[in-house]
Amino acid sequence: MRTVTGPCQRTVAEVFEECQKAAALPADTGRGLFNGAMQPGLVVVVEDDPAIADIQRRYLSAAGFGVHTERDGRAGLEAIRRLRPVAVVLDVGLPSLDGIEICRTLRGENDWTPVLFVTARDDEVDRVLGLELGGDDYLTKPFSPRELVARIKSVLRRQSGPPAPVVALGRVRLDETRREIRVDDAPVSLTATEFDLLAKLMSSPGRVFTREQLLSSVWGQADYGGGRTVDVHVAQVRSKLGDACPIVTRRGVGYTAEESRE
Ligand code: CA
Repeated sequence: MRTVTGPCQRTVAEVFEECQKAAALPADTGRGLFNGAMQPGLVVVVEDDPAIADIQRRYLSAAGFGVHTERDGRAGLEAIRRLRPVAVVLDVGLPSLDGIEICRTLRGENDWTPVLFVTARDDEVDRVLGLELGGDDYLTKPFSPRELVARIKSVLRRQSGPPAPVVALGRVRLDETRREIRVDDAPVSLTATEFDLLAKLMSSPGRVFTREQLLSSVWGQADYGGGRTVDVHVAQVRSKLGDACPIVTRRGVGYTAEESRE
């Protein structure tokens, strides 16, 4: 996830204007923007600001997605249950049920559809980060519609990678197919991002990955946020795996996974 910097307090009018500028593209530019493999599937967008929802719908459609939009939290939750989308874009501040409650409800129903949160304020970012319920990523308003599409593709890419064999390192056993982590045979619950980070490191024990490499392969982009995103997630994985955690810091370089020397 991206560390938020800079002013987040914008008026709706300012956000709208920026989105309009960003969307003022020739009609055929959309295809060029999103070339490469089309990721088919339906995305449900829950956003109560009609101007922002319209921008999201247009850009996701141009990228080849089907898009269903809802303005209200409860209606959004019902649509997600009914339509079973490949991914969900959730505004945090919504009427009747906020985006975080929607995600919490889905995860409680064992629905792990990837979620991209759209946040307007720092306190909303804090709540999203505190969720640890498998919400995969977030964007801060105002955002570039291109980045929205890139993030959606990124969360889907993370979900649809080829299944890898089970990897064991020291006391930790990682099953990519079942997306399961065990320490001394006891299951440990990680968020989707934490799992992907650990899986990346454990895929090549002893190899040192820079923060940029981890941002690129786990978060799907090389150029947003800083190394702190990686550091925060490494700290979370360490706190959950305790002494058994195979992640080792290579100061000034990045991280590697090694069998712990106990
Ligand atoms: Ca809102």
